[in-house]
Amino acid sequence: PAIELDGVVKEYLARGEVVQAVKGVTLTIAEGEFFSLLGPSGCGKTTTMRMVAGFEEPSRGTVRLHGRDVTNVPPDKRDVNMVFQSYALFPHMNVWENVAFGLKRKKVPAAEITRRVGEMLEIVDLTGREKRRPREMSGGQQQRVALARALVNRPRALLLDEPLGALDLKLRQAMQIELKRIQREVGITFVYVTHDQSEALTMSDRIAVMNDGLVEQLAGPREIYERPATAFVAGFIGTSNLLRGTVDRVESGAAVLRLGQEGRVLVAEAPHRAGDAIAVTVRPEKITISTEEPAGGVSAVRGTVSEVVYLGLYNSYAVSLADGAEVTVFQQNALDSTSTAERGDAVWLSWQPHHS
Ligand code: ADP
Ligand code: MG
Repeated sequence: PAIELDGVVKEYLARGEVVQAVKGVTLTIAEGEFFSLLGPSGCGKTTTMRMVAGFEEPSRGTVRLHGRDVTNVPPDKRDVNMVFQSYALFPHMNVWENVAFGLKRKKVPAAEITRRVGEMLEIVDLTGREKRRPREMSGGQQQRVALARALVNRPRALLLDEPLGALDLKLRQAMQIELKRIQREVGITFVYVTHDQSEALTMSDRIAVMNDGLVEQLAGPREIYERPATAFVAGFIGTSNLLRGTVDRVESGAAVLRLGQEGRVLVAEAPHRAGDAIAVTVRPEKITISTEEPAGGVSAVRGTVSEVVYLGLYNSYAVSLADGAEVTVFQQNALDSTSTAERGDAVWLSWQPHHS
């Protein structure tokens, strides 16, 4: 593995009180992987990255890079580089000088510097812009210079802390694709920090979803989306409905949940007993709206349409349940779709048991 964190904790003393920024993170990142740390602001992503890079020492736990314990090794003795949101380019140097800076300081021979900087500018698509100063370039171009400056050192792993945060949406989306291409081309491990779920889903091989100093789920994008491990993950990634109820009975392996209103919810997984209070999450696009009561074998609840929003590709429905809960449903607009529910309609919502 490229990176291993084992029970890593970081505590700060703030105004006489101990604050745990990272509460015990254990994870393994494979060589060549595009790995993301995803979570809301303040959940400990940057602190975790700073411990991998060596800018912070863990209060407890171990950090290993490519099999070597580096827990107390300074940053310049680690085979990683870090790119930040604020590119911190040298304003008085042009593109070429910015990228060459680290190599010059390491006394790399001039001919090799020329070759490596040229190669790197090619990869980040800035050939021909060697003489430009940072202020003469767009945000996206500056970020690519920062990337080239980090990659020219040939680190075995690159840590990127919200590197696209300062760019507008369109540029950010273009750079996401660009970053993925660059990672494939250089073939090294990328660890990408973001609070933007769509960014993480687009680019990553695997994602660690962090909340309050802990990893709540570590899996591939599809699994994180389709099978969120906790209510937090379900709520943080995409749109999700959270329904609470108690187990009424268990029949043929599935728990039948009472939601305090007409209908039933079938929960296929995990052992449950009658009387257990549980919460289930369902994605809006997994739910079907119908006016007729659905046949058995599916989860089905009754509600009233309180809002319909036309969104082109699909409609978004807000459906109120008897207990006051509101469920969001996305229904794709088919070519010949005529059967659309309207505001005020009494409807059934149904979904397959494995979707909750
Ligand atoms: P993220 O990058 O996910 O937004 P951070 O790792 O920056 O989160 O911060 C995690 C928590 O640790 C926050 O509550 C933050 O205020 C706290 N924290 C970070 N650095 C320090 C520090 N040097 N001193 C005290 N608290 C800190
Ligand atoms: Mg941060």
